[in-house]
Amino acid sequence: MSEQMQQEGYFGEFGGSFVPPELQEVLSYLSKQFYKFKDDPEFNEELRYYLRDYVGRESPLTYAERLSEAWGGAKIYLKREDLNHTGAHKINNAIGQILLAKRMGAKRIIAETGAGQHGVATATACAMFNMDCVIYMGAEDMRRQALNVFRMELLGATVVPVHKGQGRLKDAVDEALDDLVRNYKNTFYLLGSAVGPHPFPTMVKHFQSIISEESKRQIIEKEGRLPDAVVACTGGGSNAIGAFAHYIDEPSVRLIGVEPDQAPSLTEGVPSVLHGFKCLVLLDEEGQPKKTYSIAAGLDYPGIGPEHSHLKVSGRAEYVTVSNEEVLEAFQELSRTEGVIPALESAHAVAHARKLAPTMGEDQILIVNLSGRGDKDVEQVFQMLKK
Ligand SMILES: *Cc1c(COP(=O)(O)O)cnc(C)c1O
Repeated sequence: MSEQMQQEGYFGEFGGSFVPPELQEVLSYLSKQFYKFKDDPEFNEELRYYLRDYVGRESPLTYAERLSEAWGGAKIYLKREDLNHTGAHKINNAIGQILLAKRMGAKRIIAETGAGQHGVATATACAMFNMDCVIYMGAEDMRRQALNVFRMELLGATVVPVHKGQGRLKDAVDEALDDLVRNYKNTFYLLGSAVGPHPFPTMVKHFQSIISEESKRQIIEKEGRLPDAVVACTGGGSNAIGAFAHYIDEPSVRLIGVEPDQAPSLTEGVPSVLHGFKCLVLLDEEGQPKKTYSIAAGLDYPGIGPEHSHLKVSGRAEYVTVSNEEVLEAFQELSRTEGVIPALESAHAVAHARKLAPTMGEDQILIVNLSGRGDKDVEQVFQMLKK
């Protein structure tokens, strides 16, 4: 291994921190604080308290009996992140990071958001912890996601429109990083997925690992053994890395990430630096990050977390794509069969599970990570099905 690869924050050749020196200083300090508190018993007791009494953990591992019967083959279990407060896994990470921010003496939280889901989770956590909250959002994204902007404002956040560039997520990230460099003394940047420069991917994985910590214990209680496969959707990769974490060292468990076929970073991406870290990135002919489009706003990102990039290249995890039609079909089938309306993002995982389950034996177990609930998507699906 080269010296660089042994450095903290590298996953094989991926990860690292490619940022200007003044930002590097802030991130190095953040990294020290994270490693100091992550195993601190008092910190973890407080984290457990909020995860239980505010988020509503642990989330159930539901046996999907009718779905298993309908598909034939593996027994399907659903890990129910959709039942968390605010309806998705993002709150796990928001609570973890905000507790760290509090320990570091920050009074002000900033975040970026694309579709608004991470902005809403951050604004929620800030309301409960009485922190000032500033969310940077591309002006174009604000126009398309007016209702989420209102949600964040209801929760007491200030949403700042970013007009620079294309007025999209990337521009909002740049603004948030500028703000952090100017205000690092009282400000904490709460990043929403397992992406960005070190220590963010490691920190986000740490706070999302609760998903597989629970599912491993739950499946052993229910079935007396490990699952044969775990399936999760990947945008930046935070729900998937959380769902995989406690199985990575269990070689009998297949780990499968599912991407939209219109944003296949892991399937077609090449190693490159994006937003301050190295990962597999979709590039256009000019070598620029490709403009992606997904019906699931949370999966619309041309890069992917560095650890997923490494799990892909090393062969430990598999990554596949599904089409919009397959996703819409899965969205409806899970609703009809189990009474669970999934987020469009999560429906990607369901869509692949639908293809995989019949190829597995009846004595085999498949866990599908249901990253979020679909209430936010019902109107969009209604419009798409009407056409
Ligand atoms: C944001 C989001 C995703 C995608 O983000 P990851 O970091 O890849 O998990 C997936 N599902 C839901 C419900 C989301 O809100």
